[in-house]
Amino acid sequence: MIVDVVFDLPVPHPFSYCVPPGLTVTPGQRVRAPLGSQARVGLVVAAREGDEEKLKPLAGVAESGPILSRSELELARWIADESLSSWGSTVAALLPPAPRSATEGMPAPPEWASGGGERPFLLTGGDREQRLLARLAEEARDRGILVVAAEIDAAAAWSDRLRAALKAPVARLDSGMAEGERWSAWMALAHGAVRIGVGTRSALLAPAPAPATLVLLDENDPAHKPPGPPRIHSRDVVLERARREGSRLYLTAAAPSAESWWRADEGRLQRVPEGPSPWPRVSVVDVRGTLRTQPLSPLLRGAMKETLAANGRVLLLVTRIGSAMACNECGFLVRCPECGIAMAFSRARREKACRLCRRADPAPETCPNCHGRQLAPLGWGTERVEQAVRAEFRRYRIVRDDAESGRGRARAAHDSGAQVVVGTRAALRAFIPRGPSLIGFISPDPVLRLPDFRAGERAFSLLWAAAEKVGGDRVVIQTQHPTHYAVRAAADQDLAGFYKHELGFRAELGYPPFRRLCLLTIRSRTEGVAKRLAQGLEQELSALGGLTVYPPAPLGRSPRAPRWQIVLKGGDDLPARLSSLLGPSRDRRSDGRGIIEVEMDPVDLA
Ligand SMILES: [Zn+2]
Ligand SMILES: [Zn+2]
Repeated sequence: MIVDVVFDLPVPHPFSYCVPPGLTVTPGQRVRAPLGSQARVGLVVAAREGDEEKLKPLAGVAESGPILSRSELELARWIADESLSSWGSTVAALLPPAPRSATEGMPAPPEWASGGGERPFLLTGGDREQRLLARLAEEARDRGILVVAAEIDAAAAWSDRLRAALKAPVARLDSGMAEGERWSAWMALAHGAVRIGVGTRSALLAPAPAPATLVLLDENDPAHKPPGPPRIHSRDVVLERARREGSRLYLTAAAPSAESWWRADEGRLQRVPEGPSPWPRVSVVDVRGTLRTQPLSPLLRGAMKETLAANGRVLLLVTRIGSAMACNECGFLVRCPECGIAMAFSRARREKACRLCRRADPAPETCPNCHGRQLAPLGWGTERVEQAVRAEFRRYRIVRDDAESGRGRARAAHDSGAQVVVGTRAALRAFIPRGPSLIGFISPDPVLRLPDFRAGERAFSLLWAAAEKVGGDRVVIQTQHPTHYAVRAAADQDLAGFYKHELGFRAELGYPPFRRLCLLTIRSRTEGVAKRLAQGLEQELSALGGLTVYPPAPLGRSPRAPRWQIVLKGGDDLPARLSSLLGPSRDRRSDGRGIIEVEMDPVDLA
């Protein structure tokens, strides 16, 4: 017998081996096989009869039986095709590491009854997590449950919550656990010994006792699409899995992705009706032409004094200083006339440039709107804000927390009884279970001005999550864009209003969910070769027709690792069309001169 085996390598095609006498293997099983000079672990994707003569034999099995059923194997191939990743790297990323020695008694992984099922649910609203827990408690009686979180911390927290609320054992599948434990957790679910699984991305193919309920928490979180294969958002995977498996699916979010809102508008997701959440009093402070020398407006200072006097806690949120050009007098933002996204300003080159279409113009000296001369990136760092707070509020305990993922430290700040926390977005998550009484946005403008079509969604989701966290108390937003629809919708608790505007913008300019984007990055040893490869590829892509191909441009300025990038727009069939063009080596075409990396549906352009 011949088996086809895929490995964790950036090549899409399987390698064939013959099966030595006495060994039985089936598709979905992990084996050891000679590759180059060593034996590596791979996954059998097919078994067939044929001419075995020229083939090397397998070295042995890595597990006593298949870890993936045929249905799961097919889903893995769909993921690889959709994301232009290799099949082998996809399964390697989505399976627990194989045990050191093959263990007996592996249960047969379940084949999925073919599809059908109900429309997935979209859960929003401040009490969505309690409502989800109540539903899961009900469903756990006769259903298997698999919960996928964006990050390990969240998976750990949800594992505890589910164990407490459902009074049942929970199998944790994420890489916060030791390798052996992850494998055992997978087996426990496959056996049905444990009926509730929690993990991150690496749980996407995990077995769940049928009938299954799948949950994707915080479906709008960009962390659901981390770097590395398979380059696909976990939301796309769970939607496809639920369809094939016939399972129930819940997506949750404070403010959903525009993609999910649109799916719900189309009737492909069902929104779960909810009562109105408590909403804070939101003050929008117009800071155009003010706040040049210090970051706190009189209104924010006043709100802080009131809150602190009443023993409330204050969180001041600071966002990274952006590169976009905007007028500090009137708030005018320089956007690309073609793409509608903010143009980045380069002081060195006295130039403004579009991240997408690469249009570059000389930077204007004065504001095209008000002719003011304050045209520059503007923002405040956390240190500067902390200084200003210390100068004004000497008697209070003030803590700065600006680690990008500073959960541990922010927790410490929380526990130390800090009365004012100056922090970045991560600090918001540390306020559990109760939010602060006042959240002040020093300025969400750098997010609104990201040179990315998702700038509005990013800013809105930050403002919305903050307001939800504060609940009935108070939010102050200092901004030069007081009438921006993201700011207005957050202030007015108008979720639908935001998406109406946002989806209108996306439709008009052809952004997701209406069209798909792809980034092609070309690496080579020299700048000249990278450039020539990029230009050649651009011509081939343009010849395909039906795609929007933006001109190639160099990425960064590192002479040691030259990179060029091409941005593409196309329809739903974009992966299939690219696959045929990029040929047999698909996601990395290496002809000895350069490497092409493909990023389908990027979550970040900035
Ligand atoms: Zn442009
Ligand atoms: Zn102006």
